[in-house]
Amino acid sequence: MPERMLQFVRLAQATPERRAVAERRRDFNEIYDLFATDAAARQASRCSQCGVPFCQIHCPVQNNIPDWLKLTTEGRLQEAYEVSQATNNFPEICGRICPQDRLCEGNCVIEKGHGSVTIGAVERFITDTAWEQGWVKPRLPRQERGASVGIIGAGPAGLAAAEQLRAEGYRVDVYDRHDRAGGLLIYGIPGFKLEKEVVRRRTALLVAQGVRFHLGAAVGDGLAFSTLRARHDALLIATGVYKARDLGGPGVGLPGIVPALDYLIASNRKGLGDEVTEFDSGVLDARGKRVVVIGGGDTAMDCVRTAVRQGAVSVQCLYRRDRANMPGSMREVKNAEEEGVEFVWLCAPEAFLGEERVRAVRAARMHLGLPDASGRQSVEPIAGSGFTVPADLVIKALGFDPEDLPGAFGEPALEVSRWGTIKVNHRTLMTALPGVFAAGDIVRGASLVVWGIRDGRDAAAAMHAWLSARALPLAAE
Ligand SMILES: Cc1cc2nc3c(=O)[nH]c(=O)nc-3n(C[C@H](O)[C@H](O)[C@H](O)COP(=O)(O)OP(=O)(O)OC[C@H]3O[C@@H](n4cnc5c(N)ncnc54)[C@H](O)[C@@H]3O)c2cc1C
Repeated sequence: MPERMLQFVRLAQATPERRAVAERRRDFNEIYDLFATDAAARQASRCSQCGVPFCQIHCPVQNNIPDWLKLTTEGRLQEAYEVSQATNNFPEICGRICPQDRLCEGNCVIEKGHGSVTIGAVERFITDTAWEQGWVKPRLPRQERGASVGIIGAGPAGLAAAEQLRAEGYRVDVYDRHDRAGGLLIYGIPGFKLEKEVVRRRTALLVAQGVRFHLGAAVGDGLAFSTLRARHDALLIATGVYKARDLGGPGVGLPGIVPALDYLIASNRKGLGDEVTEFDSGVLDARGKRVVVIGGGDTAMDCVRTAVRQGAVSVQCLYRRDRANMPGSMREVKNAEEEGVEFVWLCAPEAFLGEERVRAVRAARMHLGLPDASGRQSVEPIAGSGFTVPADLVIKALGFDPEDLPGAFGEPALEVSRWGTIKVNHRTLMTALPGVFAAGDIVRGASLVVWGIRDGRDAAAAMHAWLSARALPLAAE
């Protein structure tokens, strides 16, 4: 085992082995093996311990990465875990699904010329080891407080806030419309990126900590928002964004054209052993079909790779920009290509063809024009470039916007931005309603799990400050 850091000059970058393509195309298990202990220590020792750690600066939760890499190199894994979990509620989840190429690893100073330290894989190794060794314990409060908080939404933002607030001694009730906790971690992101047991054991840990879950509880539909305001001293809205952006064009309503999240939820539920009528009837099953996915983000990547595993005859992904300008992670594109997905860059659908159901997509070639005010190049169709792609199942994965929350909650005073995200005071993280806070995608717009965790932690701290101030006796005149 190495004893010193800065080994990047001698040791090449290595990632954990990935399972053989033929094998991973057949199941929904994760594709990366775990590092062996000495391999993790060797890879961690490549860190240069630079004076200004850009990996940490560019990590949304400001993980103290150089320190836990050094501790891993020295074989002090329990301490490495303690440091890692001090800033992140779910490090093993971030280790698996953060786009490290755009965050910590993309900013590693040895990246240029040597290949970054494989931070994500080491993070996952540390925390999975901690689970195996029994070092992960519920964070029980030192003292109980009288106050109670309600959290709407059991995704990463809501769960991170729940753990923080419960550790502070609040009574914490989490409400979610789904029958399982986890938000997009459980029903959006497929098992080949994040196995469901990893999410389930986290939820179980929160239950052991004393967090109470109310599942199948849709706020605004059966359970009134006003009821929760009256029940709790403070509320957190962490409901995510779920209104799917739609496509236009002739034939868009044909059967066989489905929204990405319906498709992914059905697949995830099936994997969890649920009965799913629309999957069993074939509507949301890609088996034996020519599949076309439209979009270039994480959701599209998850759909194409799910379709491969379901036994699609062919899987194509149409994206209007090019590889360099797609929002999805490069690592996922590479994995998808290896698994047999064909990417058709610089093209966009114009019409959907078919009689009873969709049979093909007519698409046009695009070219990238001048950058707009945001600096992003515009996309323009090339006249006369139309072509046809055969398709039995078309999956729309164009991104998500917020639903009309003030309407759904019957609370017009809840202020929203012009994009429909909830407005919070950036200092107090409180919405326009006193005692009601908000966090995660519903504030930020569709984002990343690690930002959800960060926002949940920040909101918990803000709620604690607000509740503590209210509990103080009034100062003498
Ligand atoms: C398919 C897909 C793949 C992704 N892949 C990645 C990835 O690889 N890496 C990454 O970092 N990010 C990824 N993301 C983004 C990431 O999942 C989100 O940014 C993150 O989950 C947001 O967390 P959240 O807690 O704000 O919301 P969510 O995870 O959306 O959780 C919100 C919860 O609120 C509940 N809810 C909503 N309305 C109500 C209501 N009225 N009453 C009760 N409950 C309600 C929902 O059921 C849900 O459980 C992906 C997103 C998608 C859609």
